[in-house]
Amino acid sequence: MSIADNLKQIDQEIKEAKAKSPHPSETVTVVIVSKKHTIEELREVIPTGNIIFGENRVQELLDKYPAFIGQAEWHLIGHLQQNKVKYIIDKVQLIHSVDSLHLINEINRRAMAADKIIDILLQVNIAAEATKFGLQTKEVLPILEQMSNYPHVQVRGLMNIAPNYEDKEQVRPIFRQMYQLFCHLKALSFPQVKMEILSMGMSGDFVIAVEEGANMVRIGSRVFAKSKNEVN
Ligand SMILES: *Cc1c(COP(=O)(O)O)cnc(C)c1O
Repeated sequence: MSIADNLKQIDQEIKEAKAKSPHPSETVTVVIVSKKHTIEELREVIPTGNIIFGENRVQELLDKYPAFIGQAEWHLIGHLQQNKVKYIIDKVQLIHSVDSLHLINEINRRAMAADKIIDILLQVNIAAEATKFGLQTKEVLPILEQMSNYPHVQVRGLMNIAPNYEDKEQVRPIFRQMYQLFCHLKALSFPQVKMEILSMGMSGDFVIAVEEGANMVRIGSRVFAKSKNEVN
């Protein structure tokens, strides 16, 4: 199986999931999670067009970025330390993993210096897992209420990393809660907030995520797998 075949198969599964969804998203954007994959492997993806690569570590993003100038967008999807914001501020189209006002403040400061407005998602740890980064559900609204203080940052939506359950159906209620929170916040109106993107679902659970209303999925191992057995 080639990477192009894998992407075709993923698109087909997304289409089927949308058909099953009670509230299907118009479009579902696939972020190709390129972490741990080489520049050579990433090159294989480029001809399939409209590429967004997602990296979870700043250093890895910086290592690969120069090889794909003008050929791909980059999203940061992993935990971001404040002292690393400056390295990526002019390289990423979206930061998925924002989980504090301190971080928003630093992104705003660096974006202002670069004369940019940076799009972010708020990462919500809706299952309240002790091992995961992210905001508690009740912390999200107070952040939205303060976004007018950060004119160089725009909240574009929410992101979630679901628990890694053996039985994938167990993530469905979590994705459903995320969708409900997303709809609730979308109905409200705040400066510097456009609640449009719901980023949830990875290789093992993106079909369920799309069925439950995700409009952005982050897929790594399924894209790069040489055979189905390789997927975790
Ligand atoms: C690695 C990663 C993914 C993709 O995981 P796969 O199971 O390989 O599809 C998605 N989101 C985040 C935040 C990740 O770190």
